[in-house]
Amino acid sequence: MRKPIIAANWKMYKNNQEALDFVNKFKPLISRNDQVETVICAPFTLLATVGESIKDSHIALGAQNMYPSLEGAYTGEISPKMLLDLGVKYVILGHSERREILGETDQFIRQKVDLALETGLTPILCVGETLEERQQGKTQTKVSQQLWSALEGILASQAQKLVIAYEPIWAIGTGKNASPEDAEETCAFIRNCLSEIFNGEVAQNIRIQYGGSVKPGNIKEIMAQPNIDGALVGGASLDPESFAQIVNFKE
Ligand code: PEP
Repeated sequence: MRKPIIAANWKMYKNNQEALDFVNKFKPLISRNDQVETVICAPFTLLATVGESIKDSHIALGAQNMYPSLEGAYTGEISPKMLLDLGVKYVILGHSERREILGETDQFIRQKVDLALETGLTPILCVGETLEERQQGKTQTKVSQQLWSALEGILASQAQKLVIAYEPIWAIGTGKNASPEDAEETCAFIRNCLSEIFNGEVAQNIRIQYGGSVKPGNIKEIMAQPNIDGALVGGASLDPESFAQIVNFKE
């Protein structure tokens, strides 16, 4: 059985006081819910504060990026070792905002996935198509190419703990979510790719999230899809009540 995993992506929002206020309101709202693995992926500047304030809870700490080297002369970058030092467990890799705005290539993302797994961080690997690619019927080609380039050659034993986030770019921050059926179709396709890259058993164990305008009002039908095991949530994760309603989707 795959345990649902719902992660907040705070992007470049909040200062330390706002992060603390969020956690203090959020924790009691989800304290009885141990059915869902809950992750807060905070900006680097908030990791220490959030990490300290979630210590007495079952919320896990996530980062939004890392540099694929343990240390070195990489001004402005953060290594997986530094993240682990702060208690980080998950790291978002290949988010479309980094691919599109910062020009991250498949090859660079592959280096990050390798080092994250080697050091014990769990990658949340994001894949997804643009609106143009969807309209041209290229969704599966794009997603498959992103998966193969990030994952081919990774040991099946290491791959089990991976999390994949299917995030159609046209649905991110736009208020337009993919229909649950369309999201399911691509997530089922992703699981099929994973069974080709690794094997059927590993593919059954890897959790696949949907991301793109997830809100309290649509989480239930998204989570009802057989190949969707969670959500990566941007905008709606910034407010403690709204994110708690998403995490508590079963209630
Ligand atoms: C995201 O940033 O990963 C995301 C899915 O954003 P939003 O929920 O705001 O669409």
